[in-house]
Amino acid sequence: MLTLLPLPAFDDNYIWLWHDEHHAVAIDPGDPAPLVAYLDARGLGLDAVLVTHHHRDHTGGNRALRDRYDCAIHAPDNPRIPAVTHIVRHGDCIRFERLGLHFDVLATPGHTLDHVSYIGHGCLFCGDTLFGCGCGRLFEGDAATMAASLDALLALPDDTRVCCAHEYTLSNLAFALTIDGGNPALIARAQRDQAARAAQRPTLPSTLALEKTTNPFLRFHDEDMRRFAARYLHSAHPAPHEVFGALRAAKDAWDATQP
Ligand SMILES: [Zn+2]
Repeated sequence: MLTLLPLPAFDDNYIWLWHDEHHAVAIDPGDPAPLVAYLDARGLGLDAVLVTHHHRDHTGGNRALRDRYDCAIHAPDNPRIPAVTHIVRHGDCIRFERLGLHFDVLATPGHTLDHVSYIGHGCLFCGDTLFGCGCGRLFEGDAATMAASLDALLALPDDTRVCCAHEYTLSNLAFALTIDGGNPALIARAQRDQAARAAQRPTLPSTLALEKTTNPFLRFHDEDMRRFAARYLHSAHPAPHEVFGALRAAKDAWDATQP
């Protein structure tokens, strides 16, 4: 029986873990400790690690996990990522025969330029590209680059389960409500996700269908978001990537006002 679960790490990271009774594959294990504790308690081996991008809270476990389990480390081509055994590129399909798992690799630059997402078994492992009701900050790419990556995610099936690398959903919902407070789907989501967090349950995975109706950063083609961006930018006809850029800039400014 194959299980998928998010293991909490640091303050708000999730290490996504697939496993059966013997083997496991982990995505973005920035901290090896919670993963080792989970695997050892169940007598599981770690076959492989998948890395979405070079940030340390996604890669910090690589070396210790490789030493302990002799696992493969799949990652984009970036010398800042430690202990890599297999470089992945856009269009690759990587397979883990013992678990019957396979993932397509999709380049999703924007948060960082090396960022990739992994897609398989109805799930999207999008690292810091897409969050519950939010998206990653633009540390290395520009708005047009990130908007193109999000467009690629928008093309996935609506029932895709969205497995993000951080539990940022409540903060993202609070921002989304400031610009899209009349959206009934967003209001309903906020109530559900607040209840989940109050019960110490993850808000993830979400679905792409839910993100499409509630996540402003996936709605940059929508008239409501275009109107917001036109006001924000004092520009009558912003292009979709400019709408995305206005939303991202507004969120960055809002973040700066939060305690
Ligand atoms: Zn990151």
